[in-house]
Amino acid sequence: MDDYFCKLKSDFPIFSKHPDLVYLDNAATTQKPFSVIEKLKNFYSETNANVHRAVYRLAEESTALYEEAREIVASFVGAKSGEVIFTRGTTESLNLLAYSLGLSKKYRAFVVPLFEHHSNFVPWQQVAHILGLKFYPVKIHASGFLLEDVVKTINRCEKPFVFSMTGLTNSLGYRTPFEEVTKLVHSAGGVFVLDGAQLIPHEPFNFKESGVDFLAFSGHKILGPTGIGVLVGKEDLLKQMIPFQYGGEMIDRVGERDTTFAPIPHRFEAGTPNVAGAVGLGEALKYLERIGIEKISKHIKNLTEEAVKELSDIPGLTLYRPENSHGIISFSHENIHPHDLAELLSRLSNVAIRSGHHCSQQQMKVLGVSSLCRASFYLYNTHSDVKKLADGIREALRWFS
Ligand code: PLP
Repeated sequence: MDDYFCKLKSDFPIFSKHPDLVYLDNAATTQKPFSVIEKLKNFYSETNANVHRAVYRLAEESTALYEEAREIVASFVGAKSGEVIFTRGTTESLNLLAYSLGLSKKYRAFVVPLFEHHSNFVPWQQVAHILGLKFYPVKIHASGFLLEDVVKTINRCEKPFVFSMTGLTNSLGYRTPFEEVTKLVHSAGGVFVLDGAQLIPHEPFNFKESGVDFLAFSGHKILGPTGIGVLVGKEDLLKQMIPFQYGGEMIDRVGERDTTFAPIPHRFEAGTPNVAGAVGLGEALKYLERIGIEKISKHIKNLTEEAVKELSDIPGLTLYRPENSHGIISFSHENIHPHDLAELLSRLSNVAIRSGHHCSQQQMKVLGVSSLCRASFYLYNTHSDVKKLADGIREALRWFS
């Protein structure tokens, strides 16, 4: 199996340019295969025109490619294409939701666990402050959260409410029981938002079957370009929502005093969209589908288990691993600051990992640390990469002592 994934490295030009690079910062962003880069180049050199406006052939072709990308995304996540909105990324998708749901005056409270990435925490916290809504953080522990704390928070929060949570935390790789939380939220009459920034690249997902009301994810974390992301929403909910941004593309009729808006999804795509980005994302998802997301998921789980074994043998190293976690391993060493360890790993062994608070300061607070090292895996990583990570840490520790 490893041979198969080893060969995939040749699909990614960055590894020809940097043959010794061990890239383990996939939770931050993933590398891009040739097919995505080619698609972007071809779009700009052969089809570039603005979408949905002009009637000349090039514009029609460009619009067709953009809408085809929407169909690809919809089929990838098991949604209807009218339920797929293109945004700049997970952050923008979540801001869109916080503002639009908040401004609708239908909801009185936002609920968010404390382990969330700041992108799924700060928008809800701040929009609640701005609009005078209640904001309830859900208590967490080093190993995740307890469903009883979710229930307690839901019970005491004002209704109706919105509950937003990740499927997989970027700080510790904790796979949350979002399916159970969705049911709890629904039975209390709430709306459930899933931050899929880490989950969607890592495991098969079907929007309709999942029952979640909204899903957000980013293109660049799933082999696609930067600056493109997705918000998926249940059709009936999207139809009731007011736009987040106003401008061209999203209108139906503009009067002197009032404006009517385009149907969904275009109502939420004000201005010229990132057409090339959407087309590139479509190509990335086609690439992943050719391999199979289940196969990728299994491969990443194998690598994670192997890395846990390798790293557990290193004296002084602490792994921060909730029970149900994969794809991401955070760790620290008793004698060396995470930034120094990450820098030495790069300098001595060309291993790229992340260090810092991982945009999750509340999670760090609960763990009693200010920063951690984080290695995160994706499909082109191999067992040899895991070995180089462990050897690299040993080498850095020798150098440091
Ligand atoms: N949510 C999670 C769980 C993430 O890991 C990230 C990025 O690391 C985000 C949200 C924000 O994604 P983006 O910066 O692509 O908008």
